[in-house]
Amino acid sequence: MTAAPIGDPVSNAPVVAYEALEAVFEDIRSHALYDHELHGCLNCGICTATCPSAHYYDYSPREIVQLLWTENLEGIYEAMQEKIWACAQCYTCAARCPFDNSPGGLVMIMREVAIKHSMPSAKEALRPFSRVLLKVISTGNQLAPNMITRDAFPDWGPNVTKVEAPLDVLRKAIPVPTMHTTDTAWEVNLKTSVELYTIWEETGVLQQLESIDENLFDVICDVMDEKRDQYAEWQEEQKEAEADA
Ligand code: SF4
Ligand code: SF4
Repeated sequence: MTAAPIGDPVSNAPVVAYEALEAVFEDIRSHALYDHELHGCLNCGICTATCPSAHYYDYSPREIVQLLWTENLEGIYEAMQEKIWACAQCYTCAARCPFDNSPGGLVMIMREVAIKHSMPSAKEALRPFSRVLLKVISTGNQLAPNMITRDAFPDWGPNVTKVEAPLDVLRKAIPVPTMHTTDTAWEVNLKTSVELYTIWEETGVLQQLESIDENLFDVICDVMDEKRDQYAEWQEEQKEAEADA
């Protein structure tokens, strides 16, 4: 028998079936770190008093922990629609909680589960990071020196002139040869890139990406295939060179 859906009769929010709420909570509770991050809760509010995000947003780590501790399925689901993305992951709360809880760690688990369940809040929160992700996967780096320009950082004021120095000359002065580049922070070789792809596949990172942004996932798969082909070709060339030697 299907349980009656749970919903707020005076809310415009879509009704969520009880099984869906349970599935979300089960994924949170069964996370390998859950028992490490939650041991009980005094409802004392020390975490919220020290939380920087609580000062600026409609967000309270105490509330998040209480929702989980009391297994308030609707409240947990609702908090995952916006509130969990306000946490700055600074872990001040974990350092202060008398129960050794880590509200920030619990929020991290809830974010992972929000991604797994393709929640709109996860898609919205992660959209601005698409470019960063593509850059990491295609070059092995998040930032490049030539991305730091006057236009990109107008709020730097007069200090921005410092980044208008001759980057290519300055970079060549760095003793490490892999950093003699301006379009990546350092050169990542093909073998390392291919190994990273394997890690992302095996740890479920790519699967998570697919549930959040299918187009970006397709682009990234193409980049990975291309790099793997290049690596296979390089290995073949090395074998031929060894055979000829
Ligand atoms: S999580 Fe810790 S600090 Fe926060 S309300 Fe509960 S017991 Fe207090
Ligand atoms: S980790 Fe998150 S919940 Fe904890 S203090 Fe920092 S911002 Fe607040």
